[in-house]
Amino acid sequence: MTRRLIDLTHTFDCAMPAFPADPHARLCQIATLEGNGFNEFHLETNLHIGTHIDAPFHMIDGGNLISDIDLSALSGRGHLIDVRGATSFPAEVLDECQINPGDIVLFFSGFSEYFRMPRYYNDYPEFSLALADRLVTAGVRMVGMDTPSPDRPPFPIHKTLLSRNILIIENLTNLEHLLKAPQFTVQAYPLKLQADASPARVIAEVL
Ligand SMILES: [Zn+2]
Repeated sequence: MTRRLIDLTHTFDCAMPAFPADPHARLCQIATLEGNGFNEFHLETNLHIGTHIDAPFHMIDGGNLISDIDLSALSGRGHLIDVRGATSFPAEVLDECQINPGDIVLFFSGFSEYFRMPRYYNDYPEFSLALADRLVTAGVRMVGMDTPSPDRPPFPIHKTLLSRNILIIENLTNLEHLLKAPQFTVQAYPLKLQADASPARVIAEVL
């Protein structure tokens, strides 16, 4: 039987959008087959861009860097929570969901379709503090969303999750393909960077 893998990752191209206050990434070709005998690309980037993972160090003094994270924390049973149309996600969105410790919970707002528009960074919906507290109590391993952030300054949701070593995956896409998936797992692998965040390849496998 062929495995059904769904790529939840935005393509990192030369027009990758960034948070309005952040510098834009530069992905450019610096050698060509014709001129150099080989193709080569150069990447210069902020790490909170495209589909990426925030490590605890992003907001927590002394927290783990991306390179410190145990590999076992980067995959697990997934849940999709449909939060389309909401501007703030209440804790009750988890009422129908049987979450076990170590699970990964993805929030589908539908905002991915605005990824390259100003609206994506200006109007994205946020998590409520009650929802973050409930995710902590449930013992989840990772939380992901198809928006640039679960909150805004002073970042209460980031701090609540990261202080409990719950990783945050931002800027997911293709979550609509999981709406009808009865069960799936998530694998989210960042580069092994000594840094507070890293671009990641995030994949769901429908079971
Ligand atoms: Zn980030």
